Amino acid sequence: MGYAEVSVNSPVAQRRTFSYAIPSGLTIDVGQAVWVPFGDKLLQGIVLELSDYPSVEETREIASVIDPHPVLSPARARLAHWLSEYYLSPLFEAVALMLPPGFERKTVTFISTPSTTQEPDMSSLTQGQRDVLELVHRQGKISLRELERRLGSGQARLITSQLVSQGLVVKSYELEKVKVRPKTVSYIRLAVAAAEARQEAASLREKRASRQAALLDFLAQQTEPVPLSEVRQRIGSSASVVKALVSRGLVELQQIEVKRDPLAYQSMTPSYPLTLTTAQRSALDSIKASLLKVPLGNASPSVFLLHGVTGSGKTEIYLQALAEVVKQGKRGIVLVPEIALTPQTIERFASRFPRKVAVLHSKLSLGEQYDEWHRIRDEEFDVVIGSRSAIFAPQPKLGLIVIDEEHEWTYKQHDKSPRYHARDVAIKLAELTGAVVILGSATPDVETFHHAQRGDYHLLQLPERVTPSEGSALPKVEVVDLRDELKAGNRSLFSRSLSQAIAKAVGSGEQVILFLNRRGTATFIQCRRCGFVLRCRRCAVALTYHFAEDMLLCHQCNYRVPVPQTCPRCCSQRIKFLGIGTQKLEQEASQALPQARLLRWDSDVTRGKYSHQEILSKFRAHQADILIGTQMIAKGLDLPLVTLVGVVSADTGLNLPDFRAGERTFQLLCQVAGRAGRGSLGGKVIIQTYSPEHYAIQAAAQYDYATFYHKEIDYRRQLHNPPFSRLACLTYSHTNDAVCQREAERMKRLITQEIDSRGIADLSLIGPAPAFLHRLRGRFRWQIILRGSEPSALLAELPIPQGWAVDIDPVGL
Ligand code: ADP
Ligand code: ZN
Ligand code: ZN
Repeated sequence: MGYAEVSVNSPVAQRRTFSYAIPSGLTIDVGQAVWVPFGDKLLQGIVLELSDYPSVEETREIASVIDPHPVLSPARARLAHWLSEYYLSPLFEAVALMLPPGFERKTVTFISTPSTTQEPDMSSLTQGQRDVLELVHRQGKISLRELERRLGSGQARLITSQLVSQGLVVKSYELEKVKVRPKTVSYIRLAVAAAEARQEAASLREKRASRQAALLDFLAQQTEPVPLSEVRQRIGSSASVVKALVSRGLVELQQIEVKRDPLAYQSMTPSYPLTLTTAQRSALDSIKASLLKVPLGNASPSVFLLHGVTGSGKTEIYLQALAEVVKQGKRGIVLVPEIALTPQTIERFASRFPRKVAVLHSKLSLGEQYDEWHRIRDEEFDVVIGSRSAIFAPQPKLGLIVIDEEHEWTYKQHDKSPRYHARDVAIKLAELTGAVVILGSATPDVETFHHAQRGDYHLLQLPERVTPSEGSALPKVEVVDLRDELKAGNRSLFSRSLSQAIAKAVGSGEQVILFLNRRGTATFIQCRRCGFVLRCRRCAVALTYHFAEDMLLCHQCNYRVPVPQTCPRCCSQRIKFLGIGTQKLEQEASQALPQARLLRWDSDVTRGKYSHQEILSKFRAHQADILIGTQMIAKGLDLPLVTLVGVVSADTGLNLPDFRAGERTFQLLCQVAGRAGRGSLGGKVIIQTYSPEHYAIQAAAQYDYATFYHKEIDYRRQLHNPPFSRLACLTYSHTNDAVCQREAERMKRLITQEIDSRGIADLSLIGPAPAFLHRLRGRFRWQIILRGSEPSALLAELPIPQGWAVDIDPVGL
C-alpha cells in the first residue's frame, strides 16, 4: 500500500503535511487535490509527496479524488514546501497561492437516515429527537446548517450527535457550491432546414408577424449559430419573438462556454524583432547561451541581472529571449510592478506574441482569473505577464522568468501570509524547473547588485539609451538648494528656478510632471534654514514626529525625545517644518500658474478599474499641462511631450525611518528623471532639497549607480544591515496600545532568553517599538526586529502566539 503526504486545508495544520493511506483502486499523483478525513470532518487537501511508508503509525485513508488532473506540478509542490519553511507560513497558505481561483471550498454536513435501519423505538426518544428524526425521514436528507437555523446551533448539534450515536441517522459531507463557473453565452440557430424556415417566414409575414419572419430569414442565411445578443442588436428581435419561435420548434437556443478575455478591449498589430545594438546583442547572446544548456535540477539557477537605464532596450531583450524560449518549445513568465501593467506594456508583449499572452492582475474578476488559470495550465500561452502573484501561474514547461524593475518593493507581499518576495520565489522556482531568470532594472536593488558583484548572478549592462531620435539622451538634472530660497525670501513650495522652468515649458506647449515623494502620514521634523533632521543615535534613521504627544520617536528602538525649540545645528527657530501633500501642491501650483491646466494623480483619485489609464490618456492627449502626483507617476510612462520634471521635495523619502531610505530615494529620483525627455524635445529635471550634499541625491543627479552603490554598501556593512545580515520583523497588533506594548515586551524577553540559552552569538534584537504605521485599521502595532545571519532558524522553533505576524526579509520597516 502506498502513502501520500497531504497538505490539509485546516488552520490547525500549520507548517506540516499529514500521512494518508492510498486506498486500493485509487490512483494518486503528486499535486492532486483530494478529500481527506480530518478529525470528524472531510477537508480539502493537496498531495505534496508520495511514499512507501507513512510518517506516523496510524493513518486514515484518502476519501476521494477531487480532480484527477493535478492542480500543482511536482516542482510547485516542492515550491510550496519551501515557501512555508522559508517564510514560516502555514503550508496550506503557501499551497493556496498556486491553486485555481475559487478552488477553496468549505464542506457542508448533511444528516440522513442510514440505509439499513430498523424501526426505531420512538417511545425512548425525547420530543426534540423525534421531531428531528421525522424531519429527516420526510426530507430524506437535511443539512446541519438548516437544522441549526431551525433549532439553534447548540440544540441541533446535541440532538444530531445523540441520534448518530444511536445509529438512527448518519452524517455525510458534500462540497459547498462552486463559486466560479465557466461563463456561457446563449446562441441561437434554426431547428429546421433553411428552406422550411423561409417558407415559414413568408407565411408569418402574411399574418403580420414580421419580426418573427425577419429572425427566421436572418437565421436561414447563417451557417453557424449566432450569439443571441448579436441577433438582438442586428435585427432587434425581442425576447418574446425568440420565445415564440422556440416554442414552435423552429429555432433553438444553445449555451456555449466562452472564455472571458481581459485582452479583448485592445486591437493589436503584430510587431517584429528589432535589430539589436551591440550592447543588446552581447547581453542577449549570454542569455541565449544559458538557455541552450539548462541542466534540469541544477542547484544554482542561471540568474542574470540586466542593468540598464530606462530606454536602454531591456524590454527588447526580454522579448527576444522569450522568442528563443518559445523556439525551444518552452514558455515564460514576465513580472512587472502592478502599476506598470498598463495597456502600453501589455501591448508590447501581446503584439510580439499575438494571441499567446495571458495577462494576470489584481483587478481581474474572479471569473476572468478562473479562465486564465485553466487556459494557462492547458498550455494555451507562450507568455504569462502579470504582477507579483503571477509567479504562481501554472505555466507549464517553464523556460524563462523575467522580473522587470526587480528593485520594486511591491514584489514583496507584506500584508498577509506568506510574506513572500516574488524575486526570491522566482529564483527558487527556476532552481526547481531549470528555468533561467532575468532581473532587469535601471537601479538594481543593492542586495541584487551585491549578488552580481560576488558572482552569484551574471551581470549584463546596457550603459546607454537606445536613441531612436536626436537629442533624447538622458535629461540634465539641476539640484536646487531650498535653504537658499528661504534666505532669498521665497517661501513658496517652488524655487525660483522651478517656477521659471514650469512657466517656460507650459508657455511653449510642452508638458510638466511635478513629483512629490510621500508615503503614509507620519513625518519628520526638519530645519528649514539648514536642512538638519534629527536622527536616532543608535539606529541612524530619522526620528518621526508624533502629533499627539508632540514627541520625536525612533520607530526601530523606541528612543524618544521632545521636539527641540531651536535647530541643534544652526540655532534657527524654523525647525518645525513638516511635509506637504499633493492637494497643497495643487493649490499652490494653480495660484502660481492660473492659466495652466492641472491634473492630479494619486491613490485618492485612482480607485476604479481603468482610472490610471484614463488619467494617463488624458495627459497624453495633452488635455492638461501639468501632472501632479506621488510614487505612481514615477514608473513606466512614456510621454514624449514632457520636457520638465520637478521633484518638489526630495527629502521626504530620505527621512523615512528605514535603513533603505537612501536607496529608495536614489531609485525614485532616477526613475522620475527618466520620465523627462522621452521625446525629441529633450528634457530637464529639477530636484528641490534641503540636503543637496546627500550621496543619494548627488548620485541620482548624475545617474551614477556605481557611486551610489559603493557608498550605500559601505553603510550597510558598517551598520550590519542586509545583505550583511538578515532580518525578521515580528509585528503584534491589538486594539489596545498598552496591551500591545506589554505583549511585545513579553515576546522580547522570551526571545532574548532563547538566544541566551542557545548561545547564539550573532543574533540581535531591536525594539520593541511602535511600528511606523503605529495604528492601522483601528489596531495598534508594535514590532520587534531580529537581525543576524539566520533569524528564521530560531523563530522556526518558537511557538509564535496568535496576533503576531512574522515577516522574513521585510522591506519597508
Ligand atoms: P527599457 O526597457 O530599457 O526601458 P526599451 O526596450 O523600452 O528600453 O527601449 C526603449 C525604446 O527604444 C523603445 O521605444 C524601443 O522600441 C526602442 N528600441 C529598443 N531596442 C532597439 C533597437 N535595437 N533598435 C531600435 N530601437 C530600439
Ligand atoms: Zn538648522
Ligand atoms: Zn533607534
